[in-house]
Amino acid sequence: MAFLDPSLAERDPEIARLISEENKRELESMRLIASENYASRAVMDATGSCLGNKYSEGYPRKRYYEGQAVIDQVEELAIARLKQLFGGASGVAPDSFHVNVQPYSGSPANLAVYFAFLQPGDVVMGLGLPAGGHLTHGHTVSITGKYFKSVPYGVRREDHRIDLDEVRKLAKEHRPKLLWCGTTAYPRTIDFAAFRSIADEVGAILAADIAHISGLVCGGAHPSPIGVADVVTSTTHKTFRGPRGGMIFCKKEHAAAIDKAVFPGLQGGPHNHATAGIAVAAHEALQPEFKAYARAVVDNAKVLAQALVERGFTVTTGGTDNHLMLLDLTNKGVPGKVAAQALDKAGVVLNYNSVPFDPRKPFDPSGLRLGTPAVTSRGMGKAEMLAIAGWIDRVVAAPADAALLETIAGEVREVCAKFPAPGIRVG
Ligand SMILES: *Cc1c(COP(=O)(O)O)cnc(C)c1O
Repeated sequence: MAFLDPSLAERDPEIARLISEENKRELESMRLIASENYASRAVMDATGSCLGNKYSEGYPRKRYYEGQAVIDQVEELAIARLKQLFGGASGVAPDSFHVNVQPYSGSPANLAVYFAFLQPGDVVMGLGLPAGGHLTHGHTVSITGKYFKSVPYGVRREDHRIDLDEVRKLAKEHRPKLLWCGTTAYPRTIDFAAFRSIADEVGAILAADIAHISGLVCGGAHPSPIGVADVVTSTTHKTFRGPRGGMIFCKKEHAAAIDKAVFPGLQGGPHNHATAGIAVAAHEALQPEFKAYARAVVDNAKVLAQALVERGFTVTTGGTDNHLMLLDLTNKGVPGKVAAQALDKAGVVLNYNSVPFDPRKPFDPSGLRLGTPAVTSRGMGKAEMLAIAGWIDRVVAAPADAALLETIAGEVREVCAKFPAPGIRVG
């Protein structure tokens, strides 16, 4: 037994040191990657628990292994809380829809939708990757673009907003079996009802992927697709602020198809530790503080976008309705990657990103994507958003100025020191 007793620091100082370095980095930098967040200490405790030791293939009360007395309760609690939370935010009865919390992450959740409803070669429509869509919505390099016939739609050239007229026209022409709405780099509200009417016109299954915005949806800061779309998928680790994982909501009539697609269709044993973390995150999201957080994420994004516009940045669509924004750096004469790498050195962490109709390549695009969930979870507000805009402006003006980047990194550290990061202890 003694062999398995030592703590991480005693057993494996190398990994312990790397974790403590990452703790420090996460504490001392501005986390502006739109898909990232800080899970709470409670979520991390549940996720790091013994529940990860247990095998539970199947669903509560229908398992293929014994010893499920506790696990069944954990999964049922996660589902019940999500029904209460998302039912409440969607204005529908908690028992009017089905929830599956077993997908290992957002991508497997989306694959389950294909497996539940499509045959190889069937037509799928989703927002194209260059316009802000996700790989799993039919992109050519993804299994979803290789095994299905993908017809991507885009955004309008004039205002970079989703072109619903084009969606309708393409849907009528190609008759998709599955229509995706939901995005990974799109700063505006998704009109779920409009997608519903297009799906109805062509007899398509409507799937809403709210991976990025599920925390805004259940926090009342973005309209909900539940009760509108046939299926709703999400990650659990982005604005929702849970552990890494996935979840699927669907109409009751699709419950059996979705459950079968997740297990045994795509996965084996569920990650019970993640399920417990999701239950804790749902419990947190049911508290009044979460609504305030969701609202503040959007308020912060609007302040940051406006401050960047005032500094001469091109913010696509002119601003944001949600937690993220896209900057087109063409007028600044700096490629996205050069800016992102310089900002990283200055402690401002975000990602380079294609902008709509980007003339540059995806691995070296024109833009930056940044979002406010993580900094909002730290309690930052308007003053910090204005400071961030100032740092971005100074770095983009002189990305090769090593002394400047170092100076700014110091300023960033100073501000970060005033805002403890949820879930992170150093030492
Ligand atoms: C992040 C994301 C996913 C995939 O989630 P992973 O957990 O990274 O697999 C799917 N769809 C959208 C829209 C996303 O933004």
